[in-house]
Amino acid sequence: MDKFSLDFTKGKTIFPKLKKNQIIKAAARFHGHIGPWIVLGLRTGRYAQRVLGGSPFELDARVHCPAKLPYSCFLDGVQLASGCTMGKGNIHHISSSRVWVEFSRKKSTGARFISEKPGKVKASLRIELRPEVWTELHLKHARTIAATEKLSRDIYYRPFNRLFLKTRRI
Ligand SMILES: [Zn+2]
Repeated sequence: MDKFSLDFTKGKTIFPKLKKNQIIKAAARFHGHIGPWIVLGLRTGRYAQRVLGGSPFELDARVHCPAKLPYSCFLDGVQLASGCTMGKGNIHHISSSRVWVEFSRKKSTGARFISEKPGKVKASLRIELRPEVWTELHLKHARTIAATEKLSRDIYYRPFNRLFLKTRRI
């Protein structure tokens, strides 16, 4: 098996093997820059994978955020870290004035091809940006690339509970 082969039926994915700083580098390459909103998306995707498990074919993300920059950068972070992507059709954007995301894990049907639909929802996780973080990002508007990267790094290493409120349903 070559190193690019991933057996998604066993819930394996490339992302948990990446270290934190490797994910941020991959995000910079994929997205073109690093800012607080893509970092927030990365944190939610990473957290969902850790809590719900499953392969990028069993997870589904419904992302609520404003449909404009810089908020929409959040979507790319979710895609990269959770494996829920536009191409696979398992990420959905709902335009909203608040930022929250609902991840659900479907029951595996043992599908081996992308066209085979996963089963019913097994567990779900709602993650909502804390209102004080929303306020902070609007008060502390970073005006230079260096300031934006510093703020992004700070958010990347901040404890999850200080960024988000979460509810899990089984
Ligand atoms: Zn961006």
